[in-house]
This record gives sequence, C-alpha cells and structure tokens, in this order.
Amino acid sequence: MRPELSEYTPIYSGKVRELYEIDDEHLLLVASDRISAYDYILDTPIPDKGRVLTAMSVFFFDALGVANHLAGPADDPRIPESVLGRALVTRRLDMVPVECVARGYLTGSGLKEYRANGEVCGVPLPAGLLDGSRIDPPIFTPATKAAVGDHDENVSFERVAEDVGLELATRLRELTLDVYARGADIARERGIILADTKFEFGRSSDGDLLLADEVLTPDSSRYWDGELYSPGSALPSFDKQIVRDWLTKESGWSTDAGTPPPPLPADVVERTRARYIEAYERISGLSFADWPGGAA
Ligand code: ATP
Ligand code: MG
Repeated sequence: MRPELSEYTPIYSGKVRELYEIDDEHLLLVASDRISAYDYILDTPIPDKGRVLTAMSVFFFDALGVANHLAGPADDPRIPESVLGRALVTRRLDMVPVECVARGYLTGSGLKEYRANGEVCGVPLPAGLLDGSRIDPPIFTPATKAAVGDHDENVSFERVAEDVGLELATRLRELTLDVYARGADIARERGIILADTKFEFGRSSDGDLLLADEVLTPDSSRYWDGELYSPGSALPSFDKQIVRDWLTKESGWSTDAGTPPPPLPADVVERTRARYIEAYERISGLSFADWPGGAA
C-alpha cells in the first residue's frame, strides 16, 4: 500500500512544484501540470506536463553521470499513487543559494545585459552577437534567487565567490559548464539545441556536493528545434510556442493588458501536451507510454 500524500508534511510550494518531507533525510519533489507564460501561471493546466518533466529529469540524471540527489526510482513505494510519475524521492540537501546558469547561446536576460554593456554576468563577449548567437565556449552566468514573483537577478562570478567562497564558486562554475556540455551533446544528437539551462546544487549531510532540483527540463532550460535555428531572429521555444502564439495572436489578450491571460482552449492544451511528450521522446529515445502513473 502506498502512503497518501496527506501523510507527508508540505514544506514548500513553488510556482510549479511542491515539496514534502518524507523523513529527516528525504523529500518528495512533486511536479504539477501548471504551466507559466509571460510570467503568469495559467489557469489551464497541461495534462501530463508534470509527468513528462519528471521523466526528463530522471532521464538526464541517469545519462549525465554526475552525483545527484535522487534517492529512489520513479515507482518508489514511498511515492503516493495520486502523484505517481510526477514525484521523486530525493535526499534532503542543504541547498547552495545560487541559480547556476550556463549559456551556450545568447538570448533572454543575457542578451539584454549584452546589449547594455557587452557582457553577461561580468563575462565579456565578442561584439556583433545577435539574438540567438552561439556563445563558444559556453559561459557561467549565475543568478540569485528572487523572492516569489520577482525575477532572479543575474550576478557576477565574483559576487557568487563573495557569497559562498571562492572554492565553492569555482566548483559550481566547473560543474555547471561540464553538466551543460553533457546535456547539450545529448540534445544535439537528437536535433535539439539546449540554448541555456539552470542547475541547483546542494550539500548532503556527509558534505558531498550533489546536483539537485529538476535537471534539463523545459521549465529550467531553453530548448530550440535545431531545424528552425537561425541566429538573428526571435527563436521559438520548443515547448511554449503554441501557448504563446495563441495568447498573443489569437486570444485577444495582450502582454501589457495588466490582466491574467484567459483560459486555454482544448486544442491548444492538447497540442502543447503533445509537444512536451515529443520533446521527451525525442531527447530520451524512450516511450512516454512506459512512464509510471499513466492511465492503466
Ligand atoms: P521557480 O523555480 O518556479 O522560480 P521556486 O524555485 O520557488 O520557483 P520550485 O523550483 O518549484 O519553486 O521549488 C523547488 C524547491 O526545492 C527549490 O527551492 C529548490 O531549491 C528546492 N530543492 C530542490 N531539490 C532539493 C533537495 N534535494 N533538497 C532540498 N531542497 C531542494
Ligand atoms: Mg526553482
């Protein structure tokens, strides 16, 4: 008999995920089907998004070969039936308060900074780069976590070193760039570009530094379809483009309306769901039908 979710103490509720305490040493990390667009959490969930993102995380934790926080399989008996497939048992870590971002392509907040001063998080870049230009070698562009509702703040490596010490900051930079390179290679083999991504690390009770949180999911990463890639024009997001296009081109809502977006129609939901599954199956080479928690 699996436990009920209500038997665990909720300890944190994020925008998209929830954290429960299993015991002193272990947490249950639960991904919801909620989706965000233009900084809003939409009213309409995408069925199976939580399971797909959990499956992607597990695929990458396995494939990366880097010490990580997973403490059991996706069908671990400690996982309640109600969240099976979208929850993971992890070791409870002392999280390092740095959002460890790697960028192999210039866009988003990185592009904004580059246009203002020619660098990103204190890393100078060559002149003449465009939205979507490749950054070679990839760069470490850390951020500090903002309070709920605020954007994370990009910071320099020196600032991270001041916060956590030079030795740890250096290890974070090495690990981040190393894991990004591994993830980008895996995606590239499948025709997908990993433009940038964010990792979080934490310390175990024995002092080991482990890769934690979710890894290389579309929520923590920017994925582009390799076939559509061309620098200099706005690049569509592999997973959210359908939702964004509908919101800005068809729904009548506008990003500066100051009101939350309207509910999504069923076909937009279904196409977005299919997109997430496609991303998982393409990158992992696995079938989503085999992932736990599906309708029997
Ligand atoms: P968002 O990521 O949407 O900006 P958020 O970070 O507040 O919002 P989540 O990412 O959903 O919300 O929350 C997950 C939380 O769990 C994060 O605070 C993360 O640092 C933490 N976490 C992840 N793995 C572990 C772990 N092994 N031990 C302890 N905390 C962890
Ligand atoms: Mg987070």
